[in-house]
Amino acid sequence: MPEVYIALGSNLDDPVRQLDQAVAALKALPKTHWHVVSPYYYSKPMGPDDQPDYVNAVARIDTRLTPLALLDRLQWIERRQGRVRKSVRWGPRTLDLDLLLYGRKRIRQRRLIVPHYDLAERDFVIIPLLDVANGDLNIPGIGLLSALKQKHKKSGLVKIVQHV
Ligand code: ATP
Ligand code: MG
Ligand code: MG
Repeated sequence: MPEVYIALGSNLDDPVRQLDQAVAALKALPKTHWHVVSPYYYSKPMGPDDQPDYVNAVARIDTRLTPLALLDRLQWIERRQGRVRKSVRWGPRTLDLDLLLYGRKRIRQRRLIVPHYDLAERDFVIIPLLDVANGDLNIPGIGLLSALKQKHKKSGLVKIVQHV
């Protein structure tokens, strides 16, 4: 089964509870083996800054769901947790679930780009990803995860919940 990484983010309506609920939903996915979720981190919002801080994490699963079937499930979980899609990009949300990596697959479809197009630039993705993946994880089109470590070393992320 492919090794799959999912980014979780929330900045509305009790973000820690939103992430806990999303983790429970990921654990319940069909055809899927749950592995682990990273610590949760506070991060400053990207885009409009007149919105609350985010809570972010990265989860690892193995799944036999196809990439699009998994995306459908992720969007269904977002909607169930009250995600409302607004026109403003990167505005506040109860839950964002982004598919970061799906094994070594590269996907460029209308609904789905994998690896996530902006993953390497985001400290709130790379830092929790480093918590749950080996540094020798090779990200298709990007290279070794460990090579991104330096770039995000001085990030302002604050760890808030440690699971293990
Ligand atoms: P960003 O993608 O920059 O993090 P966002 O997460 O706020 O922004 P959304 O509103 O959650 O963006 O999603 C917009 C669209 O992105 C979705 O409708 C989905 O089809 C598409 N999309 C493309 N690639 C991915 C991916 N890897 N994971 C999740 N959604 C994706
Ligand atoms: Mg996103
Ligand atoms: Mg998204």
